[in-house]
Amino acid sequence: MIFIFGANDKVVERQQQYAQEHCGNCNNITNWILEKNATYASLFFISIIPIKTRYIYYCPICKNGRKLEKEEYERMK
Ligand SMILES: [Zn+2]
Repeated sequence: MIFIFGANDKVVERQQQYAQEHCGNCNNITNWILEKNATYASLFFISIIPIKTRYIYYCPICKNGRKLEKEEYERMK
């Protein structure tokens, strides 16, 4: 029997913030996106367990943003 292992990235949660942010990169003022994504270990292309989670907050126009700590992310949700 052959097992196929892999890893894939998935967006777990995504929400647009009500508060507007000024982006220093594209100079626009917009509602930034708060996003949680995770890399899943997969078996036969089916995601089974998350092996790495990232929390990011970014500008929807130019995708410039920053990484957040889990606590920071939870506070902003
Ligand atoms: Zn921007």
